[in-house]
Amino acid sequence: EAKRGSKGGVCLFSPSMEAERFERRRMEQELRDGIGRSEVKPFYQPIVRFSDGGLCGFEILARWHHPRLGLLAPDAFIRLADSTGQITAMTNSILRQACIDARQIPAHLRLALNISPTQFEEPGLAEALIAIILAEGVSPSRFEIEITEDAVMDDIVAAERVLATFRQSGISVALDDFGTGYSSLSNLRRLRFDKIKIDQSFVTSLTDSVESEKIVDAIISLALSFGMKVTAEGIEDAAVAAMLSLKGCTQGQGYLFGKPASFTETVRLFSTACQVAA
Ligand code: C2E
Ligand code: MG
Ligand code: MG
Ligand code: MG
Repeated sequence: EAKRGSKGGVCLFSPSMEAERFERRRMEQELRDGIGRSEVKPFYQPIVRFSDGGLCGFEILARWHHPRLGLLAPDAFIRLADSTGQITAMTNSILRQACIDARQIPAHLRLALNISPTQFEEPGLAEALIAIILAEGVSPSRFEIEITEDAVMDDIVAAERVLATFRQSGISVALDDFGTGYSSLSNLRRLRFDKIKIDQSFVTSLTDSVESEKIVDAIISLALSFGMKVTAEGIEDAAVAAMLSLKGCTQGQGYLFGKPASFTETVRLFSTACQVAA
């Protein structure tokens, strides 16, 4: 059985490849239809403050209610959306739904939207997202954009402009999965992110790897010295949370505080924090 790109050798045509291609085409069409029917939904994962344990807001994580395959996580469709030109329609649909949800919870709860490196390069991206938020009658300051290092480091001048547009509207910007990509410290300084998110690979191994602990220490001190907030993701146990809190980490996110859940479920789980004052 020939595997695509295996060992960089010649790719021979095989029936399994044809089947794979057929399946991909089918998923592509299903995604197109699915986005039109709002099957791709915003799920929400809580982000908490270490200082007082309070809820800061939620990260918006896409989930596709696939009619045939059930609930799908992003690794099953984000790359497909990116490579078939559907990422814009998908993000816009998620953002519109998130705006409707945002109106039903207190205004201090911020929602963080992920933007893929492919989409980040799209001209007019920031303007388009801001226009959607405003059209939905929501303040842009309710939102945060999460981008990865790879998205911004290729064209620093362009990235600077996009980030400035977001920030002028009140949307804050976070650097996601920090430590896994490549970025130079001078670019980091220049782009003035509001927040750095420590990748979960360092967080998970924090209590049993001295190397991870040193990396986490370095990221926290870097972020704080630049006046940025720092969020640790992938926190699954209380010992890790306690350690991060002692180290001065600003915010935490992970299964310990809550898994990504539908809006209905989220409001039920965080009913006190999500109650809008009468
Ligand atoms: P991310 O932005 O780094 O999101 C964090 C991922 O870590 C999420 O996976 C979340 O469910 C998972 N996670 C959070 N806490 C824990 C924990 O304690 N333990 C473990 N094991 N995992 C945890 P998810 O939802 O599968 O999303 C994966 C990635 O897909 C995201 O990584 C993000 O890069 C991308 N993604 C998700 N939604 C969207 C979207 O709407 N648009 C775009 N462009 N990308 C998205
Ligand atoms: Mg993220
Ligand atoms: Mg992340
Ligand atoms: Mg990640």
